[in-house]
Amino acid sequence: MLNFDNRFLRDLPGDTDRHNAPRQVFGACWSPVDPTPVAAPTLLAHSREVAAALGLDEQAMAAPEMLAALAGNALLPGMAAYASCYGGHQFGQWAGQLGDGRAILLGEAVNRQGQRLELQLKGAGPTPYSRRADGRAVLRSSIREFLCSEAMHHLGVPTTRALSLVATGETVVRDMFYDGHPVAEPGAVVCRVAPSFTRFGHFELLAARGERELLQRLVDFTIARDFAELVTGAEPSLAAWFGEVCERTARLMVHWMRVGFVHGVMNTDNMSILGLTIDYGPYGWVDNFDPGWTPNTTDASSRRYCFARQPAIARWNLERLADALAMLTPRPVELAAGIERYDEVYSSEFCAAFAGKLGLCEWHHDDADLLEELFELMRQAEIDMTEFFRCLASLDIDNPAIDVVQSAFYRDDLRLRFSAPVSRWLTRYAARVRQDAQPAARRAARMNAANPRYVLRNYLAQQAIDRAEQGDTQRIHDLLDVLRHPYVEQAGCAAFSAKRPDWARHRAGCSTLSCSS
Ligand code: AMP
Ligand code: MG
Repeated sequence: MLNFDNRFLRDLPGDTDRHNAPRQVFGACWSPVDPTPVAAPTLLAHSREVAAALGLDEQAMAAPEMLAALAGNALLPGMAAYASCYGGHQFGQWAGQLGDGRAILLGEAVNRQGQRLELQLKGAGPTPYSRRADGRAVLRSSIREFLCSEAMHHLGVPTTRALSLVATGETVVRDMFYDGHPVAEPGAVVCRVAPSFTRFGHFELLAARGERELLQRLVDFTIARDFAELVTGAEPSLAAWFGEVCERTARLMVHWMRVGFVHGVMNTDNMSILGLTIDYGPYGWVDNFDPGWTPNTTDASSRRYCFARQPAIARWNLERLADALAMLTPRPVELAAGIERYDEVYSSEFCAAFAGKLGLCEWHHDDADLLEELFELMRQAEIDMTEFFRCLASLDIDNPAIDVVQSAFYRDDLRLRFSAPVSRWLTRYAARVRQDAQPAARRAARMNAANPRYVLRNYLAQQAIDRAEQGDTQRIHDLLDVLRHPYVEQAGCAAFSAKRPDWARHRAGCSTLSCSS
């Protein structure tokens, strides 16, 4: 059974008002709030790896008390339910208090290895931070969050995890296109799991309100609980800790860029202090390589959060965090070193990641040029990012022929038009690879370990959603299985690596999504 030790509640002040109504909450980091029970919960899927990390076997997952807890209908012994208070910059503007409007924390489970894992229900009903919304989530976005957080983990990308996906048996009304056509959709609750759900916005809100003392407490708490490895004797300086946050964020951005993930809503309230991918909403995966692509319809005109801008936005978000922390130090300039560390780590990790994707033993200065040229070709020729990098491993470097990457093109006309420049690039690339004098099999193995065969393409998630909405969850399980080993070619799984089909190019859910979830 789960063993809880709820430090966030114990060490940080909570809201004294127990009334579950929207309000501004001052002088507190959390508000007590119980999940709102649902009519007829069913466990649609769970992650056996996350269950195992929590020490839960299949029998424990199948217990009725577990289902009740994962649906928000009851608490298990040791659980305590609360919503946390944070603010954030949304689309570049300070938005004031936001908070867990549809997330309810259930406490911190400590597993047998002593690892602390927070459990959080998403979609379990309103909290004091729900503002005018209902605190609920629809099945489609819950499936997307459940599958993608597990897929990201198996890709090696830092992320919050998902323990379970529960259908509520109730409907939730959403106006998916914001066009005045609300529809009753099936509802669901996901149980998310992470060492910490603390966001940049937790610190920003306290700073914006001038709650200096509480801000210092939250920083001390975060360092002690979530960055214990930094505490060697004395507590690290504020700047040292901020530098660590910057480094983790830089590494995360490199991961997103290397796998072609676009978060879609990189507001500061959606930035994890641990450098995890958090809050899967209108995210998407790059199909044809398009640096300007965003899956988020709300962002379609300004493209603030498009694929290529993610590293710059993360940096901007870190600057907002630095602004918030500045009131805690007489020498705020020291925080600038963290931003520099972000730049350095991003560059070096990016080079290392793309050296891996290209199968190079090490990154040479001129390789940046080679990669830039490739990106430009991929963009113009509308080449599928995942397919191209995966196929590149099969290139015969003594006889580089375009055939191996034929399947990465979406359009025949562009394939013909760009066949000469792509061939020239392959020749140049082959010459570069030959410099490394690396056995071909070694290069291919390294590339296959860096270039996933399977990612949660937008249309694949949508197919699983379409079927689940008809009551058939098989696709969710199939995807979970395949995405468990994204770098390994799996027999009979061609359908899960296929490029986006034509029908999916403009279909909602397959190419673009709204925040309405
Ligand atoms: P997001 O864009 O999902 O990161 O959400 C931004 C803010 O809106 C957060 O404070 C959320 O908790 C809140 N929010 C989003 N959807 C809902 C909902 N259905 N009910 C209550 N609050 C919500
Ligand atoms: Mg959020």
